Amino acid sequence: MNKKITIAIDGFSSTGKSTLAKQLANHLGYVYVDTGAMYRAVAFFAMQQGYINADFFDKESLINSLLNIKLQFKFNADLGFAEMYLNNLNVETEIRTIEVSRFVSKVAEVSEVRAKLVEQQKEMGKDKAIVMDGRDIGTVVFPDAELKIFMTSSATTRAQRRYDELVAKGDDVSFEEVLKNVEERDYIDTHREDSPLIMADDAIEIDNSHLDRKEQFELVLELVNDTIKSA
Ligand code: C5P
Repeated sequence: MNKKITIAIDGFSSTGKSTLAKQLANHLGYVYVDTGAMYRAVAFFAMQQGYINADFFDKESLINSLLNIKLQFKFNADLGFAEMYLNNLNVETEIRTIEVSRFVSKVAEVSEVRAKLVEQQKEMGKDKAIVMDGRDIGTVVFPDAELKIFMTSSATTRAQRRYDELVAKGDDVSFEEVLKNVEERDYIDTHREDSPLIMADDAIEIDNSHLDRKEQFELVLELVNDTIKSA
């Protein structure tokens, strides 16, 4: 029987990490965990409670409320992936808006938030057979993962992908606004003190600016098969 491994996928916003992670998890019969959804759900909670807006962030109140935040993934067989639940409510749609994208990186800078989510993520991966994507998976959550992928592509390519997704969902956004958000999140994610987005020394970098989904999947699947063989 094939050995079960842990696959960590990190990279900048909108590099297609979740598309690749879902393809791999479906193909291998592994669990897929989108850690960005967890940070987005905490940001959504902070917005609902009035702890964060454009010119104000009450970190203390958010930290004091962390015990009241229950995050769960529940598998939706029709969609083929697990959806995010915040305090027993499905928030999968709410957490994907540009408003949440505006605040999520500020929330993700808070060490207490990170500690809570990282603990939950480590627990989810304790039996391996998992594909997890995020910003600190190969460096902090699973430093011993057998396979680490670091995805990149140009900011304009990424913003165009995110813009197309938002417009397809009916969101009223401009390309400039999406590009600005992608660049701002890149900046905060790479400069924060706690667990900044950096490539793990043993990660394999994939620039997918000129790869389509199928080409990218085939390339990574080869890496996965090689890793499983030698694990
Ligand atoms: O992956 P996604 O773009 O949905 O992530 C939203 C934000 O959550 C990121 O820009 C980053 O600030 C934060 N994040 C993080 N660590 C992770 C996953 C996401 O800080 N492991």
